[in-house]
Amino acid sequence: MSQQSLFDAESAPWEADDQRELLVASLVFPTGPDKSFDYSVPGELRDQIEVGRRVRAPFGKGDRPVIGYCVRLASRNDLQRRLKEIAAVIDRRSLLSGRMMDLTEWMAERYLCTRGQALEAVLPAVVRGRESTRQIMLLSVPRHIATGLDKLNLPDKQAAILKHLAAQARPLTSKQLCAAQQCTLAPINALRKKNLITVEMRSVEGETAESMPQREPPLALNPAQQQAYQTILTPLHDRRHETVLIHGVTGSGKTEVYMQAIDEVIRFGRQAIVLVPEISLTPQTRERFRCRFDHVAVLHSHLRDAERHWHWDRIARGDVQVVVGARSAIFAPTPHLGLIILDEEHETTFKQDSAPRYHAREVALWRATRENIPLVLGSATPSLETWHRAAQGEYKIVDMPQRVSNRPLPDVGVIDLRDEFRDRQSRGAVSRQLHQAMEQALKDRGQVILLLNRRGYSTHIQCPACGLVLRCPYCELSLTHHVEGERAICHYCEYETAAPAKCPDCGGGGIRYSGVGTQRLESEVRARFPQARVLRMDTDTMQKPGSHARALDSFRRGEIDVLLGTQMIAKGLDFPNVLLVGVVNADTALHFPDFRAAERTFQLVTQVAGRTGRGERGGRVLVQTFSPDHPAIRAAVRHDYAAFARQELPVRELLHYPPYAAMARLIIRGEAIEPTKQFAEHLAGLVKEQLLKRQPAVGPENRVLGPAPAPIPRLRGMYRFHMQAQSADSETLRAAIREATADLQSPDGLQWTVDIDPIDML
Ligand code: ADP
Ligand code: ZN
Repeated sequence: MSQQSLFDAESAPWEADDQRELLVASLVFPTGPDKSFDYSVPGELRDQIEVGRRVRAPFGKGDRPVIGYCVRLASRNDLQRRLKEIAAVIDRRSLLSGRMMDLTEWMAERYLCTRGQALEAVLPAVVRGRESTRQIMLLSVPRHIATGLDKLNLPDKQAAILKHLAAQARPLTSKQLCAAQQCTLAPINALRKKNLITVEMRSVEGETAESMPQREPPLALNPAQQQAYQTILTPLHDRRHETVLIHGVTGSGKTEVYMQAIDEVIRFGRQAIVLVPEISLTPQTRERFRCRFDHVAVLHSHLRDAERHWHWDRIARGDVQVVVGARSAIFAPTPHLGLIILDEEHETTFKQDSAPRYHAREVALWRATRENIPLVLGSATPSLETWHRAAQGEYKIVDMPQRVSNRPLPDVGVIDLRDEFRDRQSRGAVSRQLHQAMEQALKDRGQVILLLNRRGYSTHIQCPACGLVLRCPYCELSLTHHVEGERAICHYCEYETAAPAKCPDCGGGGIRYSGVGTQRLESEVRARFPQARVLRMDTDTMQKPGSHARALDSFRRGEIDVLLGTQMIAKGLDFPNVLLVGVVNADTALHFPDFRAAERTFQLVTQVAGRTGRGERGGRVLVQTFSPDHPAIRAAVRHDYAAFARQELPVRELLHYPPYAAMARLIIRGEAIEPTKQFAEHLAGLVKEQLLKRQPAVGPENRVLGPAPAPIPRLRGMYRFHMQAQSADSETLRAAIREATADLQSPDGLQWTVDIDPIDML
């Protein structure tokens, strides 16, 4: 048998002698019920169909044409019934590799979402869409060819063209190349046929104006960095999976370690994915990667559709070495993944808060395990989940307790707001001590960062005569006063109304606006320091794309003296001239009805403290709090993560909270309170029954708490009840919920959602 016929036989095994054999495609319809449906593939579509392509197929009684994903192909000759036929194959190639297909299956199981939801999470909407943008062709010379040009034996014209193209810093269009070399397309096409020129299709929109940054060489690693680097390289070279936790204080040089590890991955022709919490908020990180690698795809939320599509195509073709992005970048279709890095792995933005409610850290672990590659988790304040696993020996841990160049961590001082209030030392949000420290820092020509995690002017609007608190009619949460346009705004649903001059209830004129938000803090700082140049940074002032990066640039250039804002300013910034960081109120998150409240507070204070002391002159942190003795605040003040973990973990263990047990949260929403409550009770009963069936002992490790009104009892006009299911074992918990809800019919107007290992407890 010749090679040719062998190949043919292999590529189409279903075209066997047996004519009754049918090719059956299992389809998942994202908009349909959560299961797959079998269809037969007509002969003319056999060479187009493939797992991971989308098809159009008749669905339901009326045979509506619906788009579905082909998730499985099998040839069968044992069919009992006639199958409907697929009408058309939409995609010209598979959008999802087999591995990514498996991932969606795992996600559906792990997060109790539908397979369709998982598929649509993995594929960006723009790739699923059929947007058409004008495409231009960009030509470049692959690096391995550019380095060996003189070894090639080419006609003169072609050699000249290749040499010219290889010398360019950026790819050229064929038009540009023809013009430069005074040639026709013929020699260029000849070079393309010989694979000496690579062609990239770029949508015209996708061609960004971003200039190529100045290249930066790697730094010589210090011993701690060297150790972290080796710990990543060992599994990398052994081609096995390992999770490495880099517990490094802010400024310890983690990013440099990541970049050098990525260098190694690239040397083997593989790709790396770097996840950062909020890429649009960390332009510095983005630039650092762009300065180090040739082919970086930065996926951020301000990308236009065409750009996003373009990046996705490049990544899928293997033209990208490093993907840097937020949560969803974990689904980047890299063909030969070599390394995944999650920086600031403790950040809550890695968890998606709508279905599928996946956590990028877990998806990363899944991918890294399947690909036999290392996963690196980096943080100064690791999540207790990760810390616990590392302590159990599941992860390797590397400590980087010191900043590079032996720069000290900043001194952190605590200001007890109770004293301030008792002595009436100051009015407003800035205590006397903080005021003096700001004065000193500004006098020393340093910069100041002030953190207040509440936006708006006043966070509380109340009539002192009748006690009425102005609340959102849809959420029942108190409205925040915003000075611009004199508005009262709900921070959960964006409902807004005019800030009233008189009480809407009793007509009293003395409405009191209290509670300090960032706007009010800004006015206070401007009044206290009229000479200082002040900039407020929160979602209200940073709405325009690029405004955040511009603000940071101007802060870096020293055009701003005081930067104040919400947690947005606590992240990933590295400014050597910041001499003082003030935490205006460390308690904003401390009393939330959330078992992670202490952890959040510890993280926020530690992270913002890390924004100072980056330069030669050191830096100082002042934390204002009503709870100076709270363990989370005491540990943060001492930069003592281990102490925090030691004190917090036993509490979690006692209450059987994560990381010691699995948890799920179910939320039930409805427009009327009674039926919502009843349905919640019904659902709780079902879940309890299933849990007990699997594990008869009731205790904190096996129980359903609630239902009860959620901490936000009404949101966007819907009443909300929630319950919390706990089990020692995640598998058991999910099985119980799956079983309990399998045949569950929600009454009209009622919705329920399930969140596995929830982060948001409100
Ligand atoms: P982290 O990611 O842990 O916050 P970075 O990698 O951002 O730390 O490093 C902090 C600063 O120290 C950066 O300005 C970086 O350029 C610098 N740096 C990192 N490693 C070294 C090194 N080995 N030698 C000198 N400077 C370094
Ligand atoms: Zn509201």
